[in-house]
Amino acid sequence: MVDAETSLDSPQEPGCTFCPSNGRVKVIQTSPSGNTIFVQVMVEEDGVYVPAPGAYFVLPVGHYAPADELPFDFWREINWHIRESGITFDNDGVNRTGKGGARITEHLHYWLMQAQPGDPALGLYTLRASYRKAIQDRDASLAQISRRSRPHTW
Ligand SMILES: [Zn+2]
Repeated sequence: MVDAETSLDSPQEPGCTFCPSNGRVKVIQTSPSGNTIFVQVMVEEDGVYVPAPGAYFVLPVGHYAPADELPFDFWREINWHIRESGITFDNDGVNRTGKGGARITEHLHYWLMQAQPGDPALGLYTLRASYRKAIQDRDASLAQISRRSRPHTW
């Protein structure tokens, strides 16, 4: 799955989802320097990994953490991928959270999100508001279930 032009002499980490040597990323394009790749985010659906519509990353080919000093200009590479892909994105950002879903927080990744027709605007405020509402809805339905299943006391 790795493009032949990709520079794999960059440091790789066995088992890392984002290190291209492990073959778990779908590479769309590689930068001219070979230092970064533009990939589509893969999500699990019924046990199979499928591309997530509108969700992309720019990844360093090498295994670098977000705070590492990179041996190339990451921002310049990101902008090259944005221009070259011809895709318009609605939101983007470097993931610096300590809580990554698939233990991928140690491999620097830059998100590029494209809204689908009917999606709410993807601003940070909207995302946070949607997340809070989902948690409240979940808690409300859990409370309802626990009220219903409470053992009968005589
Ligand atoms: Zn990695």
